Amino acid sequence: MTPDTFVLATDLDGTLLGGDAATRRRFYQWLAGLGERCILIFVTGRALADTLPLLDAAGGDEPLPPRPRWIISDIGTRIVDGDTLAPIAPLQDWVAAAWGDAGARVRALLADEPAIAPQAVDAPYRVSYFFDPADFPRRIADKIAAAGFDCLLSHEMYLDVLPRGVAKGPALLRLLEYAGLAEHPVVVAGDTLNDLSLFQTGLPGIAVGNAEDGLLDAIRHLPRVHLSAHPGVLGIHDGLRAHGLCDGVPWPDRDAEHAHLPLEHRHAAAS
Ligand SMILES: [Mg+2]
Repeated sequence: MTPDTFVLATDLDGTLLGGDAATRRRFYQWLAGLGERCILIFVTGRALADTLPLLDAAGGDEPLPPRPRWIISDIGTRIVDGDTLAPIAPLQDWVAAAWGDAGARVRALLADEPAIAPQAVDAPYRVSYFFDPADFPRRIADKIAAAGFDCLLSHEMYLDVLPRGVAKGPALLRLLEYAGLAEHPVVVAGDTLNDLSLFQTGLPGIAVGNAEDGLLDAIRHLPRVHLSAHPGVLGIHDGLRAHGLCDGVPWPDRDAEHAHLPLEHRHAAAS
């Protein structure tokens, strides 16, 4: 770590994975160029297994972000080391205790609800559904809360039943404390309502330009949140600059953008 080390705790879909391939490649190169100055944490609603393709450079032309130091997946319910993928025991124990192995109980509770459809995700500490915002009875959310769980609606299609008190934001705060990073600047970034708890931590935030209206309505009054006009990775870059965290680090030029390509492809890529 360096004296100006900061933590970027970012959502994936729509945020760190937002933007066309060329723009993402350029941003990832820039981010990697920060070296030890930036500690990267993925904070995602994806199941852990669905984050793994982002860690593996083997095959495919998709640009990959730098490898994160930690991964908070499944909306805060799994917290693992970014290198070994081993769970961070004290944090994972906190989630498991709050959940109480409730998967079967939650599925039984909601089995007869016609307005929701189960998602096929391998997630040990949450149960997830699709819902239609035009036809969603509030009573379902009330039923989930009455049973002792948190109900999170996001992206106008995802319903997640979570252990009470567990979400992206609380998981991040515990991880920062566990990792001894609490004294470094931390910035969070996201685009949907499942990122709301990140902004509610009070940490400096970046809402990328493609953020959903529900999130913007919930956070625009918060101090230290930058509402970027730019989508995806460009929004993160814009927000880091707005928070003063990457002064003096130039954006890579177009030659650098295509430096990974064989020479004969660079001309075509640049034209
Ligand atoms: Mg997202």
